[in-house]
Amino acid sequence: MSLVMIGLEIHAQVTALKSKLFCSCRGNYRDFKPNTNICATCSGLPGTLPVINRKAIEYSAMISIALGCKVPNKVMFYRKNYFYPDLPKNFQITQYNVYGFSSIGVEGIFELDDLKKIRISRIQLEEDPGRIAYVDSGMNVTNSALIDYNRAGVALIEIVTEPEFTNPKEVRLFLNKLSLTLQHLGVCDTLLEGSVRCDANVSLKGGNKVEIKNINSFKEVEKAINYEITRQSSMYNRNIKVEFETRHWDDRKKITFKARSKEEEHDYRYFPEPDIPVIVLGDGFVSNIKDLMPELPLQRFNRFVSKYKLSEHTSNILINDKKLADFFESILKIHFSPVEIANFLITDFKSLIEDDVENIDYLTNMKVKPEHIGELVKMIEENKISRITAKDILIKIFDSGKLPSEIANSTNSFKISDEKILIDAVESVFNTEKSAVEDAQTNHEAINFLLGKVMKFTKGRADPKIAMRLINTRLNKAGT
Ligand code: ZN
Ligand code: MN
Repeated sequence: MSLVMIGLEIHAQVTALKSKLFCSCRGNYRDFKPNTNICATCSGLPGTLPVINRKAIEYSAMISIALGCKVPNKVMFYRKNYFYPDLPKNFQITQYNVYGFSSIGVEGIFELDDLKKIRISRIQLEEDPGRIAYVDSGMNVTNSALIDYNRAGVALIEIVTEPEFTNPKEVRLFLNKLSLTLQHLGVCDTLLEGSVRCDANVSLKGGNKVEIKNINSFKEVEKAINYEITRQSSMYNRNIKVEFETRHWDDRKKITFKARSKEEEHDYRYFPEPDIPVIVLGDGFVSNIKDLMPELPLQRFNRFVSKYKLSEHTSNILINDKKLADFFESILKIHFSPVEIANFLITDFKSLIEDDVENIDYLTNMKVKPEHIGELVKMIEENKISRITAKDILIKIFDSGKLPSEIANSTNSFKISDEKILIDAVESVFNTEKSAVEDAQTNHEAINFLLGKVMKFTKGRADPKIAMRLINTRLNKAGT
């Protein structure tokens, strides 16, 4: 038995849906004032009936297929009964595997890397509860709360893995790959605030399983698991038994703490949802969905390598940031020079936005557009500007949104390849750097020094190849 066993339960909102799972309220609840995106159905008034959102079935099937799950021919919904203020009906409509297959995805296998696969037990489609806003600070100290049902009824997928992760790094890798897959499918924007949540169960040395709830972003999952592994191993070292329990993650204090047990003792009394009939997907369903599916990260990677002749390393950097990969491909429509553009993006461009990676929307909000990068790289390729100048121009585009040629003109940044000008520059360097000129007759280092001086003299604009040739010619003349 391995030392550490970790399993995940991930909830992700199907953010691409226009409406909620069982009513026509908006799926994107984020811009609404509290309790204005609700109706009789999603606020659980008696006599209302749920109507299943067809797209939600399609999208969740798409997710299931992308994560290597089987999609059964028949899917069913169940009621999961519990009493909690965020749940207007006092039950959640969800899926449950009791009588064979009933949830939208089962028996999945997700490839983590060449060596490791993670089995996915099931993927189910369910409704999100409302949101409780605690008035005071932490959820364990407050004594009053507000409730907002705008989110209640939004479509969620729940992904449950087998406890097959053996360290937090594998978990991080999985969540990154999962995020990327969901983003490529275009159905879950995992970068949206509150769109993903994760529970993790952690056990050591075959001991009791501890469940960590309430991890509200993928980033925090690794920290929560690390904390829990440290806590449990220190208990083992002191011969204290690890209890089977539920703990919460406090993302401010960065610790897990024991949940009050009463709050967690559920008897969900699952039973089939009587208001939604069994849904028979039909024979062609899965193959139709497969036809509709957009390109997945691995396919995109293979295409980048074969069609654009990018290195695997470069392809990976681009694809691991879907928006950057999209940006890359839209530049290619303007100027098709994949290798140059990819290199420019992952070095010069990325180094400028690196500080700003927290700003997840940097590619939509910035003034730099595909036209800019296309023109800029073209100018480098045509030897009109140096790479260093290109980066300076890029900084100016970030600020002004002006075209590169316009900036290069107004700042006099074009490369100098006019020999007359360069001969003058070389002449003036030779006049001021007499000892280096003498050295250069025998020492190659000194020639580079002179080139550096010519570059400096021309404010970096001299075409280095021409300048070098002129320096050598001038040296030969001086030597004879
Ligand atoms: Zn509604
Ligand atoms: Mn759930």
